[in-house]
Amino acid sequence: MTRQHPHDRDVHPQTRAVHPQVITPATSRPLGVPIYQGHLFGFDSADTLAQSFASPDEAFMYARTGNPTVRSFERAAAELEGGAGAHATASGMGAVNAVLMALLRSGDHVIAQSSLYGGSYALLHDLADRWGVELTHIPGDDPDEARAALRPNTRLLYLETISNPVTHVTDIPAFAGAVRDAGVLTVVDNTFAPLLCRPIEHGADVVVHSVTKFIGGHGDLIGGAAVFADADVHRRVWKHAVELGATADPFAAWLAIRGLATLPMRVARQSASALDIARRLAAHPAVARVHYPGLPGHPQHDLARRLLPDGSGGVMAFDPAGGREAGRVFTEAVRLIALGPSLGAAATLVMHPASTSHRQLDAASLAAAGVGEGTVRLSVGLEHPDDLWADIEQALSKAA
Ligand SMILES: *Cc1c(COP(=O)(O)O)cnc(C)c1O
Repeated sequence: MTRQHPHDRDVHPQTRAVHPQVITPATSRPLGVPIYQGHLFGFDSADTLAQSFASPDEAFMYARTGNPTVRSFERAAAELEGGAGAHATASGMGAVNAVLMALLRSGDHVIAQSSLYGGSYALLHDLADRWGVELTHIPGDDPDEARAALRPNTRLLYLETISNPVTHVTDIPAFAGAVRDAGVLTVVDNTFAPLLCRPIEHGADVVVHSVTKFIGGHGDLIGGAAVFADADVHRRVWKHAVELGATADPFAAWLAIRGLATLPMRVARQSASALDIARRLAAHPAVARVHYPGLPGHPQHDLARRLLPDGSGGVMAFDPAGGREAGRVFTEAVRLIALGPSLGAAATLVMHPASTSHRQLDAASLAAAGVGEGTVRLSVGLEHPDDLWADIEQALSKAA
């Protein structure tokens, strides 16, 4: 059945140059996942080609609908989250868009936590303003908020396991349970807690990730993934995602696969270091408040111990006693730690949300989001915690 390769002598060198022999190992196999950078696959059977238009699990034909390297990552992402299938995207926002646009239509109602990643918040408001989707925000503290917000046309509940930047933890089983009987699907952004929490085991229907963050883990890729508890929901999202075109590139998918190998160790190390730094910050006179679910004073500490028994992840925030100016000065005074708008990488990063990601919010809206004027977000990396603390201490003394 293998198509005859035109390496015989009867074609011109010009023709042979266009048709290099594609080598597939016959008596051995690659142990790592190869990068299939090609976007196109050839067929011997027209029927097989026709079928491949129908589902994510059919033959590979064109890389926007599927690619073996990307599929390997999708299988790994599905296993990571205990789902039936996964769809990899070009970015975390690609995954959020694919899921929301595939599962919603005009006139549908969404209930969403108020404290959300800025891009997801903006997308939900865009869908509400321009596409006729109804939107209700809830604080996410009590599942009765979700029950009270239900309407006959409610289709989705949108949550984050741990919110940015003040690390609000949401009771996924209670919230998903509150809306399930109404036929509402629960979507959880689990970017902050891969491995630490598996939302599908707690009743979520869809899990989204910015693979750019912890899963990639080295600050060298942009990618996203959506994982589905149910194969039919997967197929619905895949169909729309193919139209949307926010497909993962094979090389990014390959980097994500490589990232997964060390994810358990990185997440454990980052959680342990973050708890250590959080404790030291909480005891420092220049710090008014620390936001980290692993600390007993955190508003959802008991919930975090149930939902995130192995650690609370690498992201935390703190409010310097000196307010807004102290927060800004701190982020410029760090030397080992870098000032940058991301998280989940091997290197520790800081950011001052009030002057960057949350700059459009006035003081009242900042307070509603739980963000202080001086709040500093810290994504703890893999450096030795003593070195991180030395840098934090010297920056705090400048900010004081
Ligand atoms: C970064 C992030 C996103 C968006 O991911 P991109 O890869 O930047 O598109 C979504 N949700 C959360 C919680 C994030 O931190």
